[in-house]
Amino acid sequence: MTTHYDHWIDGRSTKGSTGEHLVTHNPASGEDVSSIALGGAREVALAVEAAASAATSWRRFKPVERARLMLALAARILAEQDRLAEIEAAETGKLPALVPLEIANSAAYFEFYGGLTHSVHGDTIDLGPGFHSYTVREPFGVVGIITPWNAPLNQAARAGAPALAVGNTIVIKPSEFTSATTLELARLASEVGFPPGVINVVTGVGADAGAALVQHPRVRKIAFTGSLRAGKEIGKIAADRILPLTLELGGKSANIVFADADLDKAVAGALRAFTANAGQTCTAGSRLLVDKEIHDEFVERLVRAATEVVPGVTLGPMTTVAQRDKVHEYFLIAREDGAIAALGGDPVSEEELSHGNFVTPTIYVGVSNDMRIAREEVFGPVLSVIPFASESEAIQIANDSDYGLASGVWTQDISRAHRVAFQIDAGQVYVNTWMGPIVETPFGGFKMSGYGREKGLEALHHYTQVKSITVEL
Ligand code: NAD
Repeated sequence: MTTHYDHWIDGRSTKGSTGEHLVTHNPASGEDVSSIALGGAREVALAVEAAASAATSWRRFKPVERARLMLALAARILAEQDRLAEIEAAETGKLPALVPLEIANSAAYFEFYGGLTHSVHGDTIDLGPGFHSYTVREPFGVVGIITPWNAPLNQAARAGAPALAVGNTIVIKPSEFTSATTLELARLASEVGFPPGVINVVTGVGADAGAALVQHPRVRKIAFTGSLRAGKEIGKIAADRILPLTLELGGKSANIVFADADLDKAVAGALRAFTANAGQTCTAGSRLLVDKEIHDEFVERLVRAATEVVPGVTLGPMTTVAQRDKVHEYFLIAREDGAIAALGGDPVSEEELSHGNFVTPTIYVGVSNDMRIAREEVFGPVLSVIPFASESEAIQIANDSDYGLASGVWTQDISRAHRVAFQIDAGQVYVNTWMGPIVETPFGGFKMSGYGREKGLEALHHYTQVKSITVEL
């Protein structure tokens, strides 16, 4: 039985103007999950007006009052962790055992930023004895948040919590494939006392509801997480509107294993880096650069470890049919370009998996960094292994990418670890680990992986604009 969802506008569930809905399906079983309202410019206008009306009073809340609400929301998310996890698992197809952690991580955003509402402050600037000059950090007003399907509640919390903490009101447009938990979040927020209009959710497809949000004149900032394609389209609209953006886009992240690494740890880390969430993470370590000295041994061990990652058992499906088809297309591209599949590389054969969007974990060797499989984001459990002969060559290959989101360095030489980390063009460098979701460290891309930062203290600054005030004494 499908659960029916309307938009969440001005503190209540709100029917759309057309009455049209879209049904989402469980990517693991094909069963119907929920039906979400298909909104467009009219619903976006209603939501933005509600957010604009709430903005003046919300920014005047004392920071401690905003903090109390955010912490109450975090507690409420945790209290409803199992229910939210069930909905999120059904819509994304994620392995049920993994989802509660993501829900807890979503609560952690409200805990972290709820604890930081006081931490946004300006400076005093010395202009000599005749003046008193200082800066204040002010909210933008209405912030539009557009999220993808790979970690729906997490992405909404990641952008929403810092934006709210500094006094913005928000309108979220979640992915049309996975809208339910974002709507649940808005309802929970109302229940714990967030005023109407502070958190609004409009559902629908990107070209309608998403584009309308970016175009609405009262939206003063957009935080977008998603594909490079959509990021570019949003960037073009934003250029005309002089609209500030945070863009969190794709990646083709390099994970570099030196011969002196702890190979047990490195094998486990390399495996996690490309199979976590079935490779549907922007930070997937999808290019594995391995020292020639250990290449064959390392690949053999990694392939052995990866055979334990079984579709439908320890590997979830692709969340959308289009994403499954995209992975299959890359199997053909890689083969045509001459990459050799050391594991996988073909559609799943088991009959019982055919009702879901499952793909096989795949490891390519014989890859050169100019092949499409090494340059383009696949967003599935697909790894390209590239050998290197020296530290400088490893850095050169790692940086020879349009993207620059995450990277890994595996070595026991502490000087090399820092030396390499310093030279890699990426927003995140992990040394002897491949990090899962954390809240505290700033997160974002170099190059075509985007700009602006989420997470950490930095995100607070990205949701404010600086004003300087100068008084002649
Ligand atoms: P997508 O770009 O297709 O969609 C993302 C969101 O944007 C959805 O809500 C969609 O409806 C909306 N949208 C699409 N076109 C739009 C337009 N023209 N105007 C306004 N909104 C529009 O991405 P996806 O397939 O949902 O997600 C996968 C992508 O997201 C991958 O490329 C992945 O790397 C990226 N991603 C990045 C991060 C990060 O933090 N850097 C995190 C997760 C996912």
